[in-house]
Amino acid sequence: MNARLKAYLDTEIGSLKSRGIYRMPRVLESPAGPRVRMDGRDIIQLSSNNYLGLTTHPRVLAAARRAIDEFGAGPGAVRTIAGTMSLHLELERRLARFKSTESALVFQSGYTANVGVVSTLMQEGDLIVSDELNHASIIDGCRLCKADRAIYRHLDYENLREILRTARRKTTGKILVVADGVFSMDGDVSDLRTIRTLCREFDAIPMVDDAHATGVLGTDGRGTVDHFGLKDDWDIQIGTMSKAFGVMGGYVCGPRPLIDFYIHKARPFLFSSSHPPAVMAACIAAVEVMESEPELLARLWENTRTFKEGLKRLGFDTGASITPITPVIIGSGAKAARFSDELFESGVFAQGIFFPMVAEEKSRVRTIVMATHTHQDLEEALGVFEVVGRKLGVI
Ligand SMILES: *Cc1c(COP(=O)(O)O)cnc(C)c1O
Repeated sequence: MNARLKAYLDTEIGSLKSRGIYRMPRVLESPAGPRVRMDGRDIIQLSSNNYLGLTTHPRVLAAARRAIDEFGAGPGAVRTIAGTMSLHLELERRLARFKSTESALVFQSGYTANVGVVSTLMQEGDLIVSDELNHASIIDGCRLCKADRAIYRHLDYENLREILRTARRKTTGKILVVADGVFSMDGDVSDLRTIRTLCREFDAIPMVDDAHATGVLGTDGRGTVDHFGLKDDWDIQIGTMSKAFGVMGGYVCGPRPLIDFYIHKARPFLFSSSHPPAVMAACIAAVEVMESEPELLARLWENTRTFKEGLKRLGFDTGASITPITPVIIGSGAKAARFSDELFESGVFAQGIFFPMVAEEKSRVRTIVMATHTHQDLEEALGVFEVVGRKLGVI
């Protein structure tokens, strides 16, 4: 190895180790479900984004198998050259219909969708106004373009109004207001109705990233735009198919000219190949399941209520969440890390979340229930939380 490279890596890794945050990811040795085998232990999974259990839904699996036989293992080229398959267009039609938009475009992931959508649209002289807790992929999209940016305080729409009022006097360019629909660390929700009103007042473009909202909020899980009753009155909707869809991939939904623009301009679309057939077919099946099996969504919310109420009854601080993401706020990073480890030793996995993802004194373990958890899974998990909570003096 090059000596400079070695010295550099030693310093970087040494610094992670001395801060106690050098950790390799735990390894899943079973399908992603409500109970999994992880690092050699059988545990109750409370950190998966597989909200509806679709990673192992029989219809989703059957569709993936069929697509391999019919269409092969890969698309063979980037989409603009020779890699657009009929399956891509079918998936995009289904997504547009699901989201009640004119059009949709599939990206490789939610990450590339955000990076492509923000950085392609916004130019020098434009302004991006972003909630301070927005996802890293939105931030990276902002970094890749020359537009100015402004950050509004989390869910603080008076602050957003102030920023927009000042900006509209100074900017002749486009203004984009972008927010996560559901915030992944706290489980709270952007008020899209207020954002839309402000966008109208100050001539701005509304964009929402519904990664944690699709399959969770709105009719059949259509997301926050549907949840707030704004159907066709919202310009840009982003989503991922790696969370509630249970598969992999990202998308943007919106008016036809917007999608046509991205087909010709978005670099992740132009310069990187798209999904293999099995993934697209699985995603199509996932949309069908969401539309035809509303009982999954009902169970997700029933489990959410059971688990949230259980944690509150035990005396845990569960923050401001109104979704299946429930943070359990512990205090310092070290204590939250220990809490997560103790849970794991007792058969429950809930990821510890520390600075810089949240403020140091708000370090937490984050729980996410699934539709496929049984009542017994949740009662057992609550029992473990109680024991560990008392042991560490959290409750
Ligand atoms: C997970 C997530 C993404 C990234 O989605 P991937 O498909 O995993 O790349 C983007 N935005 C938000 C808000 C997310 O939570």
